[in-house]
Amino acid sequence: MNDKELRAHKATHDKSNSWWMNDGRGIPLSRVCDECIHEVKKGYSPEVLGESGRYEDVVEDTIEPEDGSLLEDWDYDCP
Ligand SMILES: [Zn+2]
Repeated sequence: MNDKELRAHKATHDKSNSWWMNDGRGIPLSRVCDECIHEVKKGYSPEVLGESGRYEDVVEDTIEPEDGSLLEDWDYDCP
């Protein structure tokens, strides 16, 4: 199944024949069914799916301080 076929297939999903596939944090990634779940999973790393490794290792989701004050306070002299 190529990307175009997968997109066309996903358009056939409805509430009765598909469900949301969540990532390791429980955030919905894509609507899937038995037919396409393996295909859809190929597009995501196992860490993101929570199947192996750590989600934090592959997804950059750090909260930046709004004014960058934490960065300015950093002690650069520290070895
Ligand atoms: Zn499907």
